[in-house]
Amino acid sequence: MIKLNRNLQEASFPSSFTGEKRKEWELDLLTQARAIRQGTRQNFQFTPSRWKTAKTNLLRESFHKCAYCEVNFTTVAYGDVEHYRPKSKYWWLAYCYFNYAASCQLCNQKYKIADFPISNKQLQKPRIQKNNTNAYLERKAGTYTPDPLNEDLGLSHTIFSSLHTTERPLSIDPYIDNPSDFFAYEYNDVIREVDVVPLNNEVRPITSSCIELLGLNRKELRDLRYRELLNYRFLRQILDDQTINDIHRQAARNLITQEFIHPKAEFSGMYRFFEQTTINFPTL
Ligand SMILES: [Zn+2]
Repeated sequence: MIKLNRNLQEASFPSSFTGEKRKEWELDLLTQARAIRQGTRQNFQFTPSRWKTAKTNLLRESFHKCAYCEVNFTTVAYGDVEHYRPKSKYWWLAYCYFNYAASCQLCNQKYKIADFPISNKQLQKPRIQKNNTNAYLERKAGTYTPDPLNEDLGLSHTIFSSLHTTERPLSIDPYIDNPSDFFAYEYNDVIREVDVVPLNNEVRPITSSCIELLGLNRKELRDLRYRELLNYRFLRQILDDQTINDIHRQAARNLITQEFIHPKAEFSGMYRFFEQTTINFPTL
C-alpha cells in the first residue's frame, strides 16, 4: 500500500459528487433515514450506479492499481468502487467521494465485506428524527460530508480527515494515513514468499487488523510479491557490484526509480520499504 492523493481537477472530476447533485443525493439518504425512523421503511436502498461514476477518477488516483493490495487488476477485471467506511454502518457516507477507493474484487468482496473495526468512538451519525420537516432535511443536506471541489459547501476537508484520527479505525485509509508508517515486508527465500508485517509494535494493532481485514497476506499475494522482488534484488546486486561499469549501474538505478518505486508499479510500497533499509540481500 502507498499513500494516495485525491485528483480534484475540476475538468476531470465526476461532477455528481459536487455542488447541487451532491446535496440532492445526501437529501435522498436523509429522507430515507427519516422514513426508517417513522417505521415506513426497513432499510436504506442505495443506488450503485451513483458511485460507479467515480471509478475512472479513483483509478487515476491509484495509478490503476488496487488501493490496498497494489495489484494492477484492470487488465483482467473491472474492479470495485470500495466504500472505506461500509455503507451498511455509515449510511450517510454512501455517496461521499472521500469515502471511496478503487479496489480489486478480492480485497473488497472476499475479505473486507462490511467489517470495519475501530479503536475509538464511532463517528456520530446524523441525528434524524421522525418529525423532521422537509425544509429541515433540505437545510441539512450537504452538511454531513465534504464537497470535494468547494469546501464552503460542506464539511471541511480538514474536519473530515480529523474524524479519521478521532475514530482511529483498525485499518489504513491510504488517502489519509501514510501506509509507510505502518507496513514492513519480510521475505523468505526458503518458501519463496514475501509477507507484509507491522512496521513496529506501536502500530501493530492497526496494521495486523488491516492485513487480516484485506487479506493482504493471502497466498497469491505472498507468492507474487516474492517473484517481483527477485527482479528488484537482481538490480540491487548490479548496483552493489563495483566490478560492473558505471553506465550499467546507472541504468539499474534508473530502472528501479522508473519501474519499481514509481507509484504506478505493482507493489511499489514494498520496493520503497526495501529502498529505505540497509538490508543486504543474499546473492541470488
Ligand atoms: Zn486488492
